[in-house]
Amino acid sequence: MPDDAAAPATDETPDGPDETPYGPLPTGGTVRPITRWGTPVMHAPQRRVTEFDDDLRALVADMTATMYAADGVGLAACQIGVDLAVFVFDCPDASGRRVAGVVCNPDVSTPEGAERRLDDSEEGCLSYPGAFVDCARPDRASVVGVGLDGSPVRFEGDGLLARCLQHETDHTLGTVFGDRIGTKARKKLAKQHDKAAEDFPPDWPA
Ligand SMILES: [Zn+2]
Repeated sequence: MPDDAAAPATDETPDGPDETPYGPLPTGGTVRPITRWGTPVMHAPQRRVTEFDDDLRALVADMTATMYAADGVGLAACQIGVDLAVFVFDCPDASGRRVAGVVCNPDVSTPEGAERRLDDSEEGCLSYPGAFVDCARPDRASVVGVGLDGSPVRFEGDGLLARCLQHETDHTLGTVFGDRIGTKARKKLAKQHDKAAEDFPPDWPA
């Protein structure tokens, strides 16, 4: 969120998300090193979540801690090396409203036909840190899946939130955004990433 935006007087949690319709993200997790592009777990579809137990809750708490430590707006399990189709997010939409949640077994939809408009804003990935290039994606998205307790969840949004829901669902399918851009953009991305390498040691952000 912009640093210069004055917080509304009614905002009780200025450092937290504005909306967590299915409950807050789990806390108390451990920050783990972020898995990078090129690691096999990131490039194959993830296993579906079938057990909604304490182990899942602990994993998602670690994912949440790691996402915040890395200043990210979303993180999938494969990004901490776990082969499971689940992601967490805490991300602003086009109006700056921050929405947070957990989605297991996500299925994303984007508008079709006349409703489909592409937004070619910059995109980055915590698993390829220090690099950003334009990546065209539909400007709205909705995702359905299940939450930590196995009950159905649905999130919808525009702006960065739409991009995030698509980017994180892609991770659960083994796709990274580098797969969605052309050769020239991919080279530009690699150059930025290599230049920033010493800012992101292998155990970052742990
Ligand atoms: Zn990513």
